[in-house]
Amino acid sequence: MITCQTLHAHGKVNVVIIGAGLVGLLMANFLGKLGFSVHVLEKRINAKTPDNCRTINLSISPRGLKAIRAVGLEMEFRDISVPMDSRAIHLKNRLVYLKKYGNNSWLNYSVERRQLHKLLLRSATHNYNVSVSFDSECISIENSPQKNKVSYIQAGEKRTLETGVIIGADGANSITRFLMAKNSLFNYKFGSLDVTYKEITIKEENESWVINPGAIHIWPRKGFFMVALPNMNHTFRGSLFLPSMGDNSFSHLNSPQKIEAFLKSQFPDIAPFIKESGDELLQKPQGRVVKVECDRYVFRNNVLLMGDAAHCIVPFMGQGVNIGFEDCQFLFDTLKECSNDFEQSFQKFSDYRQPEGVAASKLSERNYKELVDADPLIKVVMPALRQLFPSLIPPNAITMVNFFDHSYSEVLRKVNRRRFF
Ligand SMILES: Cc1cc2nc3c(=O)[nH]c(=O)nc-3n(C[C@H](O)[C@H](O)[C@H](O)COP(=O)(O)OP(=O)(O)OC[C@H]3O[C@@H](n4cnc5c(N)ncnc54)[C@H](O)[C@@H]3O)c2cc1C
Repeated sequence: MITCQTLHAHGKVNVVIIGAGLVGLLMANFLGKLGFSVHVLEKRINAKTPDNCRTINLSISPRGLKAIRAVGLEMEFRDISVPMDSRAIHLKNRLVYLKKYGNNSWLNYSVERRQLHKLLLRSATHNYNVSVSFDSECISIENSPQKNKVSYIQAGEKRTLETGVIIGADGANSITRFLMAKNSLFNYKFGSLDVTYKEITIKEENESWVINPGAIHIWPRKGFFMVALPNMNHTFRGSLFLPSMGDNSFSHLNSPQKIEAFLKSQFPDIAPFIKESGDELLQKPQGRVVKVECDRYVFRNNVLLMGDAAHCIVPFMGQGVNIGFEDCQFLFDTLKECSNDFEQSFQKFSDYRQPEGVAASKLSERNYKELVDADPLIKVVMPALRQLFPSLIPPNAITMVNFFDHSYSEVLRKVNRRRFF
């Protein structure tokens, strides 16, 4: 049994987290709250180093907010985020359908990744016994049932540290996962979709809002789509998702003129407000849509994967951070229940969260169709009918995921059982 006391007795760092992304930092807060001392290793040079081609803003749903609330950061989070109570669907003929999620308390929040990162980093290092080493890239882990030796490169020099417990929160390309797979019987799948994306800025010169700031905006275009979220500074960050090949791909839109003409014809309502020139858009990095599925999240009872390292899901339901934050809260609750016994908690985590990762991944892939489908019947008439006849037309998957207290597996089961709608 690996308990808090055992770890203290060795006089070593209690818990090492690999990766100071959003999930690693929230987990550090939770473990700090339980009284552990935590050391987080992060390969980025400092907190300001941008993560190449990461979405700049994120939609945080009540699932994510619940975990933020549990570490006492809800008020500060609200100060840095924009509440959204609706979805706005922009058709090509410039018609916009605004659809409220439901009652007034059904809100998602748009937040800049960097601001949320700053909040979690400050809270972890100020409020708890948490240290974060930037410019520290984990390169190997020697794992035995009793202890782990982590080697990392810090500012060009190789260093090691010993710890009883490791949490790999190092994202989709996780080194922790790679090293565990080399050493144990464990399977994982890494794949990518035939979709790439670029980020764009939508901005009015006089700094007023170009479109409704209380909504997530979607431009479904049969086969591709754009989605935009509001920022605190009255701009919108759009993500344009295109197929990786064909006429509507970035590789085909390979000149400033072509990309500008494409934006004007497909998104006539906001094209005049896109800040980047065609040339700038061409230079922007193109993101890949990747996914990861693991058959378990725990190794030798003392190494655990969470967040994207364990289950990178495609971004079509805006759930990656939300499920990652739920992971953190689950581990916190389980550690409390199991009197801080890591071995038992890690096993419970793996048993319960692995099916959740798989279900969330399936639901996110299904939602791709919802985003690209431009059929107004599905986008507008169905939600209206659903509101009129709630018992005949049950809520859709995205509503249940965002606003119902269901697990991802439960939502998947419910939508799989349906023959219609
Ligand atoms: C286009 C797009 C839009 C999205 N929109 C949303 C959204 O609206 N809502 C939502 O909930 N989710 C969204 N997501 C998903 C979300 O971005 C991810 O799920 C989330 O960032 C995962 O967080 P993480 O901390 O697990 O991993 P990461 O954010 O990848 O963090 C991992 C950290 O580990 C560090 N690291 C990696 N390797 C090492 C190493 N060897 N040593 C030390 N450190 C290392 C990295 O530098 C990084 O800081 C979106 C994703 C995409 C691609």
